[in-house]
Amino acid sequence: MKRFVFLSFLAIFILMVYVQADSNSSNSQSNENEAVKISDLQSCVSACGLPSDLDFSDRAFPIERSDEEWRSLLSEISYQVARKHKTEPPFQNPYFDNKDLGYYACVGCEAPLFSSLDKYDSGTGWPSFSLAIDDRLVAQQVDNSFGMRRIEVHCALCGSHQGHLFPDGPKPNFTRFCINSASLKFIPSVSKAKLRSAILDWYKTEKNLTR
Ligand SMILES: [Zn+2]
Repeated sequence: MKRFVFLSFLAIFILMVYVQADSNSSNSQSNENEAVKISDLQSCVSACGLPSDLDFSDRAFPIERSDEEWRSLLSEISYQVARKHKTEPPFQNPYFDNKDLGYYACVGCEAPLFSSLDKYDSGTGWPSFSLAIDDRLVAQQVDNSFGMRRIEVHCALCGSHQGHLFPDGPKPNFTRFCINSASLKFIPSVSKAKLRSAILDWYKTEKNLTR
């Protein structure tokens, strides 16, 4: 009888050790998965969130304004982001979760850069687009600041900094334009047909180009 009781206690002890070990193993697996997700988001957010270290002051764009003109035309946050390559805070900007139909024009010259039809929720806290309306209007520049190789994007007409382009967007192009709200001006539309005609109308209007 004593032997039976001893063996029973031994069996229960072994079972408890096994259950505890299994629980630790699944916790650590779950924590690892969580860590991977968080680190993915952090690398994305840090890449989006760091400002661009580029200087376009010696570059000529079709639309040129003096620093005083830019300061009077733009709000402080738009001036800092669009003209000084700073970055606005995530989730605290007007367009990151805007789902209205319309297009997003350059804050500096009103060129139609992005459409709500290509906007999606990337989870980063910045307006994200899978495509630009017209690649000719969204110029790219390699940005090697902060030890990273990123693609900076800016308005090809006035040089206003928009954000960065990443290769982790949705199918089929896998491109993600991570853009600052401060560099954009949202133009709402009531229908897709009106949106299309509004964008086409911009191409028909005369541009006040300085060169
Ligand atoms: Zn522009």
